[in-house]
Amino acid sequence: MHPVDFIEAKRDRRRHASEEIRDFVLGFTRGDIPDYQASAWLMAVCLNGLDEDETFALTRAMAESGDTLDLSPLSGFKLDKHSTGGVGDKVSLAVVPLLAASGVTVAKMSGRGLGFTGGTLDKLESIPGFRTSLDSREILDIVSRTGACICAQTSNLVPADRKMYALRDVTGTVESLPLIAASIMSKKIAGGADAVLLDVKAGRGAFMKTAAMAKNLASLLVKIGEAHGMYTAATITAMDSPLGRAVGNWMEVQEVAALLQGDVCDERLREVVVRLTGEGLALAGKGGAHEVEKMLSTGAGWEKFQEIVEAQGGELDAFDNPPRASAVVTVYAPAGGYVADIDALAIGRAAMRLGAGRVRKDDSIDPLAGVSIAAPVGARVAQGDPVAHLHASSHDAAQAAIDSVRDAFTITAAPPEPGAVILDEIRSLAAR
Ligand code: URA
Repeated sequence: MHPVDFIEAKRDRRRHASEEIRDFVLGFTRGDIPDYQASAWLMAVCLNGLDEDETFALTRAMAESGDTLDLSPLSGFKLDKHSTGGVGDKVSLAVVPLLAASGVTVAKMSGRGLGFTGGTLDKLESIPGFRTSLDSREILDIVSRTGACICAQTSNLVPADRKMYALRDVTGTVESLPLIAASIMSKKIAGGADAVLLDVKAGRGAFMKTAAMAKNLASLLVKIGEAHGMYTAATITAMDSPLGRAVGNWMEVQEVAALLQGDVCDERLREVVVRLTGEGLALAGKGGAHEVEKMLSTGAGWEKFQEIVEAQGGELDAFDNPPRASAVVTVYAPAGGYVADIDALAIGRAAMRLGAGRVRKDDSIDPLAGVSIAAPVGARVAQGDPVAHLHASSHDAAQAAIDSVRDAFTITAAPPEPGAVILDEIRSLAAR
């Protein structure tokens, strides 16, 4: 079909056949279909949507647009994990070693942070020496030795998504459920795992602002997984307030290290880690939350975390002599009462301005910068008590974020009603 006829079909709300979608995606990836035609089609999809079969066909075409990772030389059940991203979301850093410590194989490809959300690769690269650029031979080697690795996407994996996402970013076509779902799942399918564990975040500090929106996305992701023969489980988790006490790359790694060593730093973070790891173990037929609790108390996940860090070139000395940002400034409670709310979006933006995140894709980041929360939601504070610490490379940079971080806290006279962090769960019918 001529690209103009294909675009007009979606403009006029007609269904595409799977082969038409495939031809268009592959033609665009090869460079035969120009950006202006792809942009017009993306906008037509944004406005008129795709049905489930069209979404499955788009996902498959994207997944097959480049190399795929062949995990068949590895033994055991192979699981992948994906989060739609949030503020202080360091869950993958804990879940991957916990799964590997229980004998589940995890070859996880992650992304970098952009805007107010952080990226797993940036967090890991805050460990001196840690290498995230691995080729498929190195991935297989590290996973066969340690049971897991977390690395960047290999260079020719799902090139259709790389090209399409860059266009969506500059043409106002990111916010489309089928396009988001196909983008996420094409990378998971190309990653070669047997199953995928999804953490779909809902709230101010997430892509999906409400639990209902997150549930729609989660259910489409699960259906795509199922249609491609992957066991898929999605957990919808709250992202109105930052997850855990640390927002900033190195500080988040340290928070995970403490959690894996049995420290209950933050109940909500711990709950999400236990639930997602438990789900992963259940998908692999290896138990559930009870086993995760045991591993947290024995430190088995911490042992595995260190093994993976060493295998990827990271220096463990950093955990004994942790580096710190050169300037740390404290934010104090303007009034006494209870911390009723901490605006994740405001904290995420402040952390980015402090140097922890990127405004543009090629910006560099400061691994030591960020915000640490001293008074989490529910804490009782007196006027003048510390509520947060701002970490930056200069005193001026830290000072500049004080007002926005103080304003992110809502302090009330009465204690807040505790809100759930696990909001919902969806599993594919094919899941065990
Ligand atoms: N994450 C992705 O990988 N793709 C999208 O389109 C949105 C979020």
